[in-house]
Amino acid sequence: MISEAFSPAACPRLVIKIGSALLVDAAGAVRREWLAGIVADIAARRGAGQQIAVVSSGAIALGARRLKLPKGGRASLEDAQAAAATGQIALSHSWAELLGEKGLTAAQILVTLDDLEDRRRYLNAAATLDRLLTLGVVPIINENDSVATAEIRFGDNDRLAARIGQAAGARGVILLSDIDGLYTANPGRDPSAKMIPRVERIDARILAMADGGSASGMGSGGMTSKLSAARIAQRAGAHLAIVTGKVDRPLQAFEETGHGTLFVAEKGASARKAWLAGRLTSRGLIRVDEGAARALGQGRSLLAAGATGIEGRFARGDVVDIAGPDGTAFARGLIEYDAEEATRIVGRRSDALEAILGYAPRAALVHRDHLVLL
Ligand code: GLU
Repeated sequence: MISEAFSPAACPRLVIKIGSALLVDAAGAVRREWLAGIVADIAARRGAGQQIAVVSSGAIALGARRLKLPKGGRASLEDAQAAAATGQIALSHSWAELLGEKGLTAAQILVTLDDLEDRRRYLNAAATLDRLLTLGVVPIINENDSVATAEIRFGDNDRLAARIGQAAGARGVILLSDIDGLYTANPGRDPSAKMIPRVERIDARILAMADGGSASGMGSGGMTSKLSAARIAQRAGAHLAIVTGKVDRPLQAFEETGHGTLFVAEKGASARKAWLAGRLTSRGLIRVDEGAARALGQGRSLLAAGATGIEGRFARGDVVDIAGPDGTAFARGLIEYDAEEATRIVGRRSDALEAILGYAPRAALVHRDHLVLL
């Protein structure tokens, strides 16, 4: 039972992610009855005053059938893009129609990874979401797969849902899936596998429990992407639950039974730092010595003197990773200098910087207010 710790009904704002295998049947058609069930759940919650955003997968699976593409439309990037463009319009139509029958208005938002990685665009998306939710609309969100390229895409809607939860300032994110939670091992292969009801911290032991990709083969997420999503949500101060969608009224069932795996929100995460930590890409890497790594661990800023090397092309204000002597990135922050200037001051003491730069230096290479430990 996890409902004592997290009641979805108690979240003023909730994000629900729905996997492809729940929405689309084996023949590639929308599972309308099931969809009507979740829409009834959403309507009940809206009636109780809750604001709900939906991250809906299924565009590629739906489009693939219409276009008669092999491998569920995932044989190549071009196929996936064509399938998504074709399936998305059908997917939105089904949502708008069924929500409309319950007197609810649907809105569509399609985002790319870059839309949420760039701070300004992220804030724009957050403002749009906020306005829609305040107006009582149900935003139906998906990745803009028809323009996303292989290198710059979420690829799975689990992490997208966590980022949307963060952008919307949601207190809870529910991943409805064809699996009912995180198991100690793959339950399909190991009958002694046990479900874990509650996870406070995602450590190496928890990460080892996830394996492989999508069990249904229809979506692209698997337990690994769900754990990354959970980490993003936790840092953003949101609870995330993995819950089965293989029942008719999944939200109602979850509220009644509390069955699933809950990843408990971290306390006191600042919005800006959560955005930083939840980013999936960075523009550069700063290598630092042991002393600097220790100082950062104690909450201090990164000074030029502690840096040993700079990689990447970045401008002032870009996000960079910070790695210690062992080469592993352990922190991330907004850099105060562009790459060329940063390279000139690497390893130099603060009192030497003005002469090198030709102007009064900034307080740090990465200020502690703009820095998170990973
Ligand atoms: N965005 C993809 C779609 O709509 C699904 C991604 C996923 O499988 O999580 O088909």
